Amino acid sequence: MAEEKFDTLRIHGGYDPAQHHHSATVPIYENVAFTLGSAKRGEEVAQGNVPDAYMYSRVGNPTVSVLEQRIAALDGGVDSVAVGSGMAAITYSILNVAEGGGRIIAPYDIYGAALDEFETLFPKYGIDFDLVDDINDFDEVKSVIKPDTKAIYAESVANPTTKISDVDGLAQVAHEAGIPLIIDNTFSTPYLFQPIKHGADIVVYSSTKGISGHGNVVSGLIVDGGHFDWAGGKFPQFEENEFILKSADHPKHYSFIDVYGKRAYIKRIRQKYLRLMGAVLAPSEAYLELVGLETITERLDKEVATSLKIANYLQTNPHVKAVYYTGLPDSDQYDLAKASFPKGIGTVLSFELDGTAEQTATVVDSVKLFLYLPNVGDSRSLIVNPIKITHREVPVKRRAASHITDQLLRLSIGLEDSDDLIADLDQAISTAFK
Ligand SMILES: *Cc1c(COP(=O)(O)O)cnc(C)c1O
Repeated sequence: MAEEKFDTLRIHGGYDPAQHHHSATVPIYENVAFTLGSAKRGEEVAQGNVPDAYMYSRVGNPTVSVLEQRIAALDGGVDSVAVGSGMAAITYSILNVAEGGGRIIAPYDIYGAALDEFETLFPKYGIDFDLVDDINDFDEVKSVIKPDTKAIYAESVANPTTKISDVDGLAQVAHEAGIPLIIDNTFSTPYLFQPIKHGADIVVYSSTKGISGHGNVVSGLIVDGGHFDWAGGKFPQFEENEFILKSADHPKHYSFIDVYGKRAYIKRIRQKYLRLMGAVLAPSEAYLELVGLETITERLDKEVATSLKIANYLQTNPHVKAVYYTGLPDSDQYDLAKASFPKGIGTVLSFELDGTAEQTATVVDSVKLFLYLPNVGDSRSLIVNPIKITHREVPVKRRAASHITDQLLRLSIGLEDSDDLIADLDQAISTAFK
């Protein structure tokens, strides 16, 4: 059979009913442990030599596995690990490349909690960041690559500007320097953009957002493209013998590379980070996410179309000074958006009012359909004022570059009727400028 396409994989990927009492939908395995059968099998399972065997749900669970296999298939990766939040996914993905010390290159305009972690927490663990103003300025990026640089980290689409990272170009820069490219693909989801197909090595998600899509589960995912060569000395953690991997098959050389080959990175995330640090995703949460994922195509097609319609409406509103949505033809990234995001740039956009901070607050207070809260990728439409809520971590001198002003509002577009949403914004803006 030919390779299955996205819409088939989002329904069937990673799941064989015959393995689960022919249950049509994915069962929730709400159990901690799995019986080992016999002393002989127990030993083999413990050594990781029994394919698809489970032992303890912190390390692996059949419901969670379906989600992991489905996302790996949707993204074109070799494997994936689900974790308890997007921040856990980011944390583990960075530690797994740079533990013990090193440097990471990232842009300033990343998710606020990630920026806070990179600037104030990781340095205490010996991991330092070279933050750049423009991740698409490859001369700037190359100029900060040092012998101990371990990765380049970026978001496929940044927030709240919807600025796009040139993933193909960045992958080339990273690979010329012998380092991997890690992409946070949260805003795009694998439906709108597949970083591995554009050269990225590792993809991380807050699947709290568009992947699950209903604002009812906090979760994260790490996907491994399986292309990066971790051998050669820069990443000794993948080459050193690992006690837990020693077995009859691997008696002498039992590093993650020896035992798992191109899955070394993701197997190490599971065995060293999920197993030992424990930010596990619950099976019931994985189930909710699988249900949400089944309709990702229809949700995003509608939400993207509505986002574009709302962006166009906002451009005609006399009280709106600027609309930030790189899917608009007058965006300076429109060509890149069209080439890399043929199904649309996403469901988040932001705009600046031509008014005061008080008038901006009045819009927030006057909307009736838009919910005022700090989230994105929900089936409900959301509004937030980034400077007060989601982007407080951004240093004052860095705010202008991302248009984070007192007048900026960010929208995340849901599944409501688009005319109702426009009418809601229109009445709220009119109230503010009355
Ligand atoms: C929300 C978000 C995160 C953090 O995810 P949680 O699931 O809330 O931990 C990371 N990156 C981006 C781009 C996000 O939007």
